[in-house]
Amino acid sequence: MGTIVQIRVSINPEKYGENRARDAINKAFEEIDRIENIYSVYKYDSEISRINRLRKNERLQITDGVFNLIDKTLDYSEKTDGAFDITVKPLVDLWAAAGKANRPPDDYELKRALGRVGYKNIALDKSARTIYFKKEGMGIDLGGAAKGYATDRAIRILEENGIDNALVNSGGDMYCLGKRSARELWRVGVQHPRDRNRLFLEIRLKDKAIDTSGDYERYFVIDGKRHSHIIDPRTGYPIGDNVVSASVIAPDSAAADMLATAMCVLGEKGFDIIKGFGDADAVLVTSGAGRLKADMSEGIRERYDISQERL
Ligand code: FAD
Ligand code: MG
Repeated sequence: MGTIVQIRVSINPEKYGENRARDAINKAFEEIDRIENIYSVYKYDSEISRINRLRKNERLQITDGVFNLIDKTLDYSEKTDGAFDITVKPLVDLWAAAGKANRPPDDYELKRALGRVGYKNIALDKSARTIYFKKEGMGIDLGGAAKGYATDRAIRILEENGIDNALVNSGGDMYCLGKRSARELWRVGVQHPRDRNRLFLEIRLKDKAIDTSGDYERYFVIDGKRHSHIIDPRTGYPIGDNVVSASVIAPDSAAADMLATAMCVLGEKGFDIIKGFGDADAVLVTSGAGRLKADMSEGIRERYDISQERL
């Protein structure tokens, strides 16, 4: 998935042999490979690429896993006022091409791509298990959800193989299952957004996911100006440089992945949406007047053991 996946498990070697643990870990990695082959837009034969070759109103039967994940993303699009939207692909492609050509898209190109975006133009038929697009030239990109989903699937495979305590980290999309040891919870760090060698947050979690999205790992440059790979599906433009990063804690990693991307689009307004979920929290880093600032969802410090470094 263009990233590094790390799996750690904690076992009692007297009850659960090391070889069995290695076997469980290998199975979890096999599952991640399987997910990548299905969800990658970088692979011509993936199920997602096949969906992306559909013409307007042409239907395709899809597997249950893909159907359910797309269905879940549509629910999150609704709940985030369209800030998270997998139909953003025409805009992702447009801005990627603009980065390569070192020329921003013109108004016509932007308008045309924007006209092909909108989660309400995807239709899922629950009984026939089919998908179709209501407009020509549409496409989907699960880059903001499938890494988290892969993390959840890896955790599920570990659990099915008798592992009770594990930490899976797919390039920043993490899930903490159980505990690190009898006495300690898993402790995860969020990298400082401007200094790779420093942590900005440390948080202890149990049976929770935490995912971070931001401008510092992936971006492109046009005319010497950095642009985020996260695009506001409602305006067609990459998000501005006011939002630096967003970390979201949620019950599963796919949800945290989507909400972290949405928080980057929504900025401080996103906190209301996070609150509405009832079981999610967020840490947002913004920049203004040359300074970084961190905001956190209400009550997060009461719910979690957090240590914070200066920004
Ligand atoms: P996130 O914030 O979680 O997601 C941002 C990504 O989602 C963007 O890169 C874009 O693709 C999309 N997006 C942008 N704006 C929005 C929005 N408003 N709503 C919804 N989605 C949006 N990278 C490679 O370099 N090579 C590969 O072969 C490769 N294969 C991959 C296979 C899979 C199955 C997946 C899931 C990812 C793969 N990637 C690959 C990485 C991918 O290109 C993205 O860079 C990555 O998923 C972004 O994750 P993130 O956590 O950095 O950002
Ligand atoms: Mg994300």
